[in-house]
Amino acid sequence: MESDRSLGNLDAKQENSQRAGEEATVSLQMGTLLKCYRPFFSVFPFPPRMIQLRSNPSAHAAIFRRKKLPSLTHCFSVSSLRSSHPSVAEPSFDKSDCESIKSPSPELWLYNTMTRRKEVFKPKVEGKVGMYVCGVTAYDLSHIGHARVYVNFDVLYRYLKHLEFEVCYVRNFTDVDDKIIARANELGVDPISLSHRYCDEFSQDMVSLNCLPPSVEPRVSEHIPQIIDLIEQIINNGYAYIVDGDVYFNVEKFPEYGQLSKRDLEDNRAGERVAIDSRKKNPADFALWKSAKQGEPSWESPWGPGRPGWHIECSAMSAAYLSYSFDIHGGGIDLIFPHHENEIAQSCAACKKSNISLWIHNGFVTVNSEKMSKSLGNFFTIRQVVDLYHPMALRYFLIGAHYRSPINYSHIQLESASDRVFYIYETLHECESILYQHDLTNMKDSVPPDTLDIINKFHDVFVASMSDDLHTPVVLAALSDPLKVINDLLHTRKGRKQNLRIESLSAIEKSIRNVLTILGLMPSSYSEVLQQLREKALKRAKLTEDDVFQKIKERGDARINKEYEKSDAIRNDLAALGIALMDSPNGTTWRPSIPLSLQEQQIDAP
Ligand SMILES: [Zn+2]
Repeated sequence: MESDRSLGNLDAKQENSQRAGEEATVSLQMGTLLKCYRPFFSVFPFPPRMIQLRSNPSAHAAIFRRKKLPSLTHCFSVSSLRSSHPSVAEPSFDKSDCESIKSPSPELWLYNTMTRRKEVFKPKVEGKVGMYVCGVTAYDLSHIGHARVYVNFDVLYRYLKHLEFEVCYVRNFTDVDDKIIARANELGVDPISLSHRYCDEFSQDMVSLNCLPPSVEPRVSEHIPQIIDLIEQIINNGYAYIVDGDVYFNVEKFPEYGQLSKRDLEDNRAGERVAIDSRKKNPADFALWKSAKQGEPSWESPWGPGRPGWHIECSAMSAAYLSYSFDIHGGGIDLIFPHHENEIAQSCAACKKSNISLWIHNGFVTVNSEKMSKSLGNFFTIRQVVDLYHPMALRYFLIGAHYRSPINYSHIQLESASDRVFYIYETLHECESILYQHDLTNMKDSVPPDTLDIINKFHDVFVASMSDDLHTPVVLAALSDPLKVINDLLHTRKGRKQNLRIESLSAIEKSIRNVLTILGLMPSSYSEVLQQLREKALKRAKLTEDDVFQKIKERGDARINKEYEKSDAIRNDLAALGIALMDSPNGTTWRPSIPLSLQEQQIDAP
């Protein structure tokens, strides 16, 4: 530990150690399931610039009303599920905003779970993307595994929009399911009401993590007619059978079963998760419709009252909004089998030409290198994490690993992410403060070549990394160079004297801001998010800011009295709690830092 007398600046150390309005949610309900292969953009009611229109529901509705869509019974219902988070900006992808990002690479390579290789992304309809991501089963607060799925797909969504695709992003809510019914029965409440409460909780989590709302968020309970219609098609095509009011998918009728998970039917037969049910023709057969039981929500159907099985909802709702043929289907890696395998079987059984171009799955979250589970007691909800760490730090952590790699959650990882985002926002805040003092008009063509070089290199890394299966960690690491240049221009003697300094600061800040926006890491206010990061650090240290000011005063008195051991001890005690004291000619201030004991762990780590 550096002595207090040396007035060591933790910022320099840190830079070295860290290199490593109300939003309208549109709910569309389709009266009848769209039949095989109707191109979704011809029926999907979003106009070409739907993203801009999303923030204006009335304009959106007006355009919708002009279109005659006889297959839709409920054209529009706008519900305000979301409230805007105070610290994050709704990104705008106006061209003017992306000026410093040159035209992107024409090729986006994405890993396809189906083929087990990276492929060039080619949308089925030029310029348009249909993307379906399996949503949560809403019966409890969502955990950091969920956060990872939806943050990663939010980055893909934002990047596709940055590439100027019109994206129809569908993410469902499972609000009818065994787990929901079991939880509701435990609590003695109505299952659908319970589920809707947790849908709202999930939406709040998504806002806090700065995830853009999808184009549509369909719910199972609102799509029962479409689900029944789909099951009838599957039965009529000979792929399902009825037993006592239950309907099962007959996997032996679908020889391609196992194509996504690369499992054969024998594996499924031996699988311990497959329940033995003598009424099934094959142990791997799965329920499309479950007959009604006492105390469960149920709907009338041609096979008697009941409710859908889990898998059928995603086949029905993806077909309803995107048709049977669309571009990207995503979810967590745990959904490959059986959920997505079953979805493929159902959709192909209903419509032979059903085709999804890319299956994308993200890796697991482990906790201290163990699988996260309630029974191991290492289970963290998003709410628990963002109580102590800023949601932008959690988001930074989640995209700090490649989306397909496993990611290990630990306090040191979250402390490091918090420290890093503080550094980023503090640098940009200081830069912005200087820029506010200058007239930035008429400066466009006067950026020095050295600065342009830095910006171009940063941009090239951004495009190359994102085009290569969304390598976000490389982009985050590449932020270091332009941030260092900003700090040099702000704080070094040489930098302060540099020709065209303000022009350089403005251009670099803009290029970083654009990338942060595409990654979903751009706050609406640097100063606000810095204050929130300080508050989280104080909470983790179990101190108030007044406690810290008192310690700063005690340390100042000790130094006046030349009691250097005492002043060092005060500084070290605070550093151990994650509060770093910063001395300057204007006095002593504080900032959050990684607690010393955790810093040592970080150094020891391989
Ligand atoms: Zn699904």
